[in-house]
Amino acid sequence: MADQGIDVCLLSVGPDLPWLTGYEAMPLERLTMLVVPAEADATLVVPALEVARVVPRDELFSIHPWGETDNPITIVSDLIGSSANAAIGERTWARFLVELQYARPDLTFTTTAPVIGPLRAVKDAAEVVALRTAAAAVDRIAAQLQAGEIPLIGRTEAEVSADLGRRILSEGHHRVNFAIVAAGENAASPHHEPGSRVIGPNEVVLCDFGGTMADADGVGYCSDITRCVVTGTPTSRMTEVYGHLRKAEAVGLAAGGPGIPAEDVDTATRSIIDAAGFGQWFMHRTGHGIGVEEHEDPYIVLGNLKPLEVGNAYSVEPGIYLPGEFGFRLEDIVVVTEFGAESITNAERSLVSVEA
Ligand code: ZN
Ligand code: ZN
Repeated sequence: MADQGIDVCLLSVGPDLPWLTGYEAMPLERLTMLVVPAEADATLVVPALEVARVVPRDELFSIHPWGETDNPITIVSDLIGSSANAAIGERTWARFLVELQYARPDLTFTTTAPVIGPLRAVKDAAEVVALRTAAAAVDRIAAQLQAGEIPLIGRTEAEVSADLGRRILSEGHHRVNFAIVAAGENAASPHHEPGSRVIGPNEVVLCDFGGTMADADGVGYCSDITRCVVTGTPTSRMTEVYGHLRKAEAVGLAAGGPGIPAEDVDTATRSIIDAAGFGQWFMHRTGHGIGVEEHEDPYIVLGNLKPLEVGNAYSVEPGIYLPGEFGFRLEDIVVVTEFGAESITNAERSLVSVEA
């Protein structure tokens, strides 16, 4: 905060508060806000009826409950005191920011991302263990998919998505974040919403799924994996396109390491798909950081010159999406170690044919 000229951080809903304190604010019209002055102790301003959910952490923050007739904006404003530069969590409801701006026209607001983002992007040993545990869980589900244990033919995308969701929970996550299932031509839409389309034989089925798994401190860490299968026999075009994609992903997985600019991983991955002539059909960045959020720093995208660091965790997920035909994406999560980038999801990466 001092380095960046921030006098006070204000954290409400969103992942920063639980990452710092273990407490997740209710997304309510009643304000919860951790006030963290650079030069004083932190205070959690919290609705009185929510106090029972707060695990006291006296060494981290004091608790300031507010009742139904109190004005929490006034309480927060008083705690901010004479600060001039405030950083506020970017997920904070606009309503509360607007009310704070009205109450404190003297304050300059920026977001907390430049302060907390770089801290969250470098995982400590316990966080890496939590990510590995979550990764192993989705690896098992991917193996079930590839083994034909998850019925596909004759079911709708939505039914398979619900099935994946149940498995995400039964493998130890406490929350399902997404379970994209896209069949046939729908797989050409990267964020397809699983719907009523019935899966048929000899089709590509793209499955991208993940959840959040609480670690020992109750802070949740995310998983994320994509595997594609074919319900029967792939066409020669499917085999060709997938071959390029798999090579691109392998190059991308190997490209990371400490000191490597994040954009180099994107460029390495993209160059393979470009060279194969499918560059225009890979229309998203190569990956995203992952931790308490599914998408966080570091982003693996052209223009991100920031060198990767030991402890970074991110996805490598190239795709080739052919409108009206089919699409493929292949996604794994890596952790940067002193030796390079280690993949922590390791389910079979070939295009598996399933009889299911
Ligand atoms: Zn994914
Ligand atoms: Zn992802």
